[in-house]
Amino acid sequence: MIDIQNISKQFPGTTAVRDLSLQVNDGQIFGFLGPNGAGKSTTIKMITGILPIDKGFITINGSDITKNPLEAKQKIGYVPDRSDVFLRLKGIEYLNYIADVYKVPTEVRKDKIEYFTKKFGIYGALNDHILTYSHGMRQKVVICGVLLHDPDVWILDEPLTGLDPKSSYILKEMMREHADKGKTVFFSTHVLEVVEQLCDEVAIINNGHIEFLGNMTDMKREFKDDESLEKVFLELTQNE
Ligand code: ADP
Ligand code: MG
Repeated sequence: MIDIQNISKQFPGTTAVRDLSLQVNDGQIFGFLGPNGAGKSTTIKMITGILPIDKGFITINGSDITKNPLEAKQKIGYVPDRSDVFLRLKGIEYLNYIADVYKVPTEVRKDKIEYFTKKFGIYGALNDHILTYSHGMRQKVVICGVLLHDPDVWILDEPLTGLDPKSSYILKEMMREHADKGKTVFFSTHVLEVVEQLCDEVAIINNGHIEFLGNMTDMKREFKDDESLEKVFLELTQNE
């Protein structure tokens, strides 16, 4: 479970996140929907302990990300919006490094690396440098790294952007399976269809605060039948 209580984040000249609260329960896929610049990545960076929180607090399955960062981070699998990491490493070196960090035993990691990278179609590229990978391949190698230590709480920042249809389908299936096991999946997107397709719960964020919070049924009920969800989303997130 992710519990976010009244968090705020200020950058010079901008309030990126304003008094934001939400809970993601076990067994749920939670969609964090909003246009570019809404504050999605800033929120995610606070959840994952990358950015300090100005006000408020966040706990991950009971561990406070500010007070017990290591404990909280061990429970998290995070896929950032940009996967340009460790470009000078080969795919296999990167995955072994991540497995070392999370203390995945040698016998276990070998099978897992093979399984996940074959699933995403990058097994054959593991001996190439990440520098030579396409955006989609970089995204996939990071996703495989996250899956190695089997974290309970998945936090994915626009994970489907740049993935080919097959990999996107596989990842969505994995997200569903993970939630169905009673674990937690939180992901951001600017695409309404993805949320409609995939989520149990949704928050619509705009200008750093939440415009709507609820499940898909509430969302459809709350807004008039004659308006398409897309129109509602566009109106909610209109800037002046
Ligand atoms: P999203 O992920 O929803 O597209 P972000 O969280 O990246 O949005 O950005 C929210 C707002 O905060 C934007 O106005 C952005 O310009 C600003 N912002 C994000 N990161 C920084 C930063 N490091 N310094 C200053 N402003 C930032
Ligand atoms: Mg972002």
